[in-house]
Amino acid sequence: MFNPVTFADAAVGERTVHLRLIETTDLHLHLLPFDYFTDQPVTGLGLLAAAELIEEARSEAASALLFDNGDFLQGTAMGDYLAHERGLRAGDEHPVMTAMNALRYDAITLGNHEFNYGLDFLTAALAGAACPVVSANLMTKRGAAPRTDRTLVKPYVLLDRVLTDAAGLRHPIRIGVIGFAPPQVVDWDRQHLENRLQARDIVETARAWVPEMREAGADLVVALAHTGIGAAQHSDGMENAAVPLARVAGIDALLTGHNHMVFPSPVFTGHGGVDVQTGTIAGKPAVMGGFWGSHIGLIDMLLVRDGGRWQVLGTHTQTRAVAAGARQGEARGPAPDRKAARARLQGKARLAHLSAAIAPMHEDTRAAIRRPVGETAIPLHSYFAHLGETAALALVAEAQRQHVAARLRDPGLAALPILSSVAPFKCGGLGGSGNFTDVPAEPIALRHIADLYSFPNSIAALRVTGAEAVEWLERSASAFNRLRPDSQDTLLRDPRVPGYNFEVIDGLSVEYDLSQPARYTPDGRLAQADARRVARVGFRGAPLDPAQEFILCTNSFRACGAGQFPATVPERLVLQDGTITRDVIRAHVERIGTVRPSTSRSIAFTPLPGVHALFETGPGAERYLGQIARFHPEPRGLSRAGFLRLRLDWSAP
Ligand code: MN
Ligand code: MG
Repeated sequence: MFNPVTFADAAVGERTVHLRLIETTDLHLHLLPFDYFTDQPVTGLGLLAAAELIEEARSEAASALLFDNGDFLQGTAMGDYLAHERGLRAGDEHPVMTAMNALRYDAITLGNHEFNYGLDFLTAALAGAACPVVSANLMTKRGAAPRTDRTLVKPYVLLDRVLTDAAGLRHPIRIGVIGFAPPQVVDWDRQHLENRLQARDIVETARAWVPEMREAGADLVVALAHTGIGAAQHSDGMENAAVPLARVAGIDALLTGHNHMVFPSPVFTGHGGVDVQTGTIAGKPAVMGGFWGSHIGLIDMLLVRDGGRWQVLGTHTQTRAVAAGARQGEARGPAPDRKAARARLQGKARLAHLSAAIAPMHEDTRAAIRRPVGETAIPLHSYFAHLGETAALALVAEAQRQHVAARLRDPGLAALPILSSVAPFKCGGLGGSGNFTDVPAEPIALRHIADLYSFPNSIAALRVTGAEAVEWLERSASAFNRLRPDSQDTLLRDPRVPGYNFEVIDGLSVEYDLSQPARYTPDGRLAQADARRVARVGFRGAPLDPAQEFILCTNSFRACGAGQFPATVPERLVLQDGTITRDVIRAHVERIGTVRPSTSRSIAFTPLPGVHALFETGPGAERYLGQIARFHPEPRGLSRAGFLRLRLDWSAP
């Protein structure tokens, strides 16, 4: 029945019908374009920013359906404020439902993050949904087979719609919509879901339900698959199952997500079963519309009704970026035709109405983020991170360690010691002399947590050996220039290595010998196989055993290979639950109230008598010079770029 020719090639006749599927995915409660960590508006994301694109996309097709693919409830301070502080009272409507209802979604599915606040909160939020909510592989009671499960929400829904063909004739169609989530949710949110929710394999579930949908008269089946585009081969319980799911007979189109990527895009070139040219997976049209409302995804289907049966003549898949849409909108001037102009105006009016409806919750959230979540007993800054003053990193490291420790279920993994790696993201460089973390010893609010951790990364953990941890430190040591014997005033940092590629491993003590050449190049390639800057590494007061195994906490960006650190391969990933690291830090600070991060130095340097180096840092460092007295720092004024220059004595660092 499926004919995978491209939309453009398909013959358009009088009886053909253009049906457009519109996707949002992984919104993570980004409604207004606003960053609650920095308390500033942002551009290029948010459902309300995408609303104009949605209305425009609707106006271009004779018929359109709008779906959300999950992970809508959690991910901004508004979500936490609602769940943890304010609560949903009887009669309250969750703002994401207010927004989705206003935009007239046709159906939505659940992502893994819908469960972060527990089942009762989710149920209260979903009570406000005006459209069906579907998810086939999450159940409150597991049956002998998928079709006897008691699913949490409806496994699928049949949408009866009337489509208009090119000649203006109307045809009834029944569109089946089924939802899926990664079965890992029940582990990831075990504290909320134990004994309350179970999960099945996505593909197994699809094979069971799709035939029933067909029997029930579905002319088309659309999968709302909150799963990523991963391995081509099916394995039981796989998290990213889009490719094997696409092969399930009877599914006509797939909306994907969870990966926070864009499909079609060149990133997926060469993936088994995936065609980035035609925007298909296993020959079926598929899309992934970014995350946080960065994009909308569109699947266009050209259909014809032939002898009472619907046939797919061709498909076309695309995404549209909200950022690009805003730019085009400015350049484009008046809309090309009256219909599009009217749609745009309607979109604008709806948007204004919706912004007003969400404004009270938005303002309450802003008030909440200014309230302290805890306090720090000592100032936390990054001015001397490269010199081993790493209290600010130690706070993040400890938060990461506790999060990961609480979630490692496998007894073999839970027994391993946990190391925690953090880089000073805000540490000069191209960001300039003001680009340093600087949190005074006082109450900590959300904006301070953004200062401590400036990227919206999510947490990840790898299984590594001691030897690999040493390589990790060698890779970090490429952040330094070589200090040759008797050299004077060599610039200490190699400007080609940004702060985010200088990882400090909390839990290990390292001594760097900077008289040695770097083992790795600034971009992470092996430079000299016999070069070693790591002179000594200690773990719990003894030399590190290269064969010992560890869990190493890091972020998902690093764990996926960014910066070319060793052992950053998928096989070593033991945890990647999608939790934003800033949320991990915030939860940690809230839990302990007053933080006193370790000030013990995790980095030492081999003394190089007679050697002096120049260190550039932020002018704000001047009041903390006492912390690096061992280097006998001599201020040498400001550089042209505004950095404070310090001459450091490497005789006894
Ligand atoms: Mn997500
Ligand atoms: Mg997800």
